[in-house]
Amino acid sequence: MTEKTQITFLITEMALFSQIETKKKQKIKDMSNQPEKIECLIIGSGPAGYTAAIYAARADLKPVMYLGSQPGGQLTTTTEVENFPGYPQGITGPEMMEELKTQAELFGTETGWGMITEVDTTVRPFRVKDDEGKEILAETLIISTGATAKYLGLESEERFKGGGVSACATCDGFFYKGKDVAVVGGGDTAAEEATYLAKLCRKVYLIVRRDELRASKAMQNRVLNTPNIEVLWNHNTKELFGEEKGFVKTLQGVVLINNKTHEEKTIDVEGFFVAIGHKPNSDMFTGVLDMDDVGYIKTKADSTATNIPGIFACGDVQDKIFRQAVTAAGTGCMAALEAERFLAAQED
Ligand code: NAP
Repeated sequence: MTEKTQITFLITEMALFSQIETKKKQKIKDMSNQPEKIECLIIGSGPAGYTAAIYAARADLKPVMYLGSQPGGQLTTTTEVENFPGYPQGITGPEMMEELKTQAELFGTETGWGMITEVDTTVRPFRVKDDEGKEILAETLIISTGATAKYLGLESEERFKGGGVSACATCDGFFYKGKDVAVVGGGDTAAEEATYLAKLCRKVYLIVRRDELRASKAMQNRVLNTPNIEVLWNHNTKELFGEEKGFVKTLQGVVLINNKTHEEKTIDVEGFFVAIGHKPNSDMFTGVLDMDDVGYIKTKADSTATNIPGIFACGDVQDKIFRQAVTAAGTGCMAALEAERFLAAQED
């Protein structure tokens, strides 16, 4: 056996051992009616949550992670991820999330399907309840519940998700190199997505429902001065159409309606990027944690600490600017390190 094979064998053995141990623990816990007392509870399972789990587990905090309503988070709805360092051939979003889950579990994170439904932050440890009524007492909380991209709500938009419809130009824009695409929205995100796509695509239509943009002046200027962006003012999207062969869907165009003249117009596009805002998944903490007016959890400068000591927020639930898997992973790492330091300071 070579040294490398031996190490691989050892890691595999450790993974198996850890999985068996986790299963044993789950069984014991399930049989007990006492609240489980833990050092670190991670709520949500995107790149931020999994990275926090990897770091927390390696620091021996024995983290417990609730995967949430969409295990793996937003990346599980994208196809190929090509901008996460370390994957030169690209990787699908769901595959990448599975790998992160395996890595988090390998070091001893206990992951569980389900949702946290209640958090009492007035007591220490924090008293938390899940959707099956199980109680957990957690010394620290890491919130990595992410954000949900808003969509228009059209039936045809739903049908072409993954076949032309996207909510992330940085993730999917590359697939539309040299093609015509549309972006819907008038805020900073839409302006940013349109200018990003204009560098890759032949033509970008920006579909704006009013006669002005909400985006900052600088972003507006950038949009209006980019020759291959055409702004379609006062337009709403009526429906999307394309080719559908079984599961394979290819967007071909969009029917728009001018909300002033009521005239209909069709644009031929292969990509349709929805950029009408995101909703951070922070409702459970409304009135408890400091948030901005949209619901993004506020964290201290250069930190993931919230206004309540022992509660940390990472990933898209606290980041409205970058929203990338790699930046989410970075803040996940910060949250775990800060949770570890917080616990160490409590012991002093
Ligand atoms: P936003 O500012 O809320 O803008 C959403 C845009 O989508 C608005 O133009 C809105 O139109 C439009 N919209 C909403 N619902 C629609 C619908 N059903 N059909 C058509 N259009 C619809 O969201 P955002 O652009 O994602 O920005 C969120 C926050 O992040 C902002 O504070 C922004 O400044 C910030 N941000 C900053 C940066 C940066 O600094 N680099 C980058 C991105 C975002 P109306 O204008 O008519 O309401």
